[in-house]
Amino acid sequence: MKKSLKTKSCSHQWRTLSYSSKKEVAFLCSKCQQTHHRSMTKSEQAIVKRRKILKSHTKIHRVWHSFAKEFMEDYFKFKYQGYDMMKRVAKWARTQPKGFVHIVYCDDSYHASSNLVLIEHKRSDKYMGTSVVFIPQCSGEAPIQFFLYPGHRSVLITALAEIQREASQVKKRELARERREYADWEAVVAYPSRNLDVK
Ligand SMILES: [Zn+2]
Repeated sequence: MKKSLKTKSCSHQWRTLSYSSKKEVAFLCSKCQQTHHRSMTKSEQAIVKRRKILKSHTKIHRVWHSFAKEFMEDYFKFKYQGYDMMKRVAKWARTQPKGFVHIVYCDDSYHASSNLVLIEHKRSDKYMGTSVVFIPQCSGEAPIQFFLYPGHRSVLITALAEIQREASQVKKRELARERREYADWEAVVAYPSRNLDVK
């Protein structure tokens, strides 16, 4: 009977393709791409049910949903902007679970101190990515939101690390140049106490 299920050319290697709330499970053979559907067994149903309960307790987007509910209309338009928004977000961040919200600083195009709000889409056993919201303080524009998948995040970190490495080399040369300039100046400066012809 088992033999009749097999095709002549493929000793199937099944993996689970999907399972639905309608108690159906689908399999795919990774060798020949053949699919197979059937109803779930009782123990399979129990596992799926348990996972769903777990998921609803620790939703991966929960902190982002909280942010969007508080500060956006339909996950698209921001309700506030500038310093007002920055203050409101700082207050909201204090009510969120630890390690989900990071507020870092940058300048807007007016060189006014502004915020980048990093919100993590994660739960203890899964990480999807990080939303970033830029809130300019004084440019009069609405905040802007973008999303970093783990790949984007890695590329950004690599770029920033490279910038940092180079900046520290430049800083050394900058300090050396300043010392030289100071010495040059000290050699020629006419301090009032030393040189009486300066009035
Ligand atoms: Zn197969």
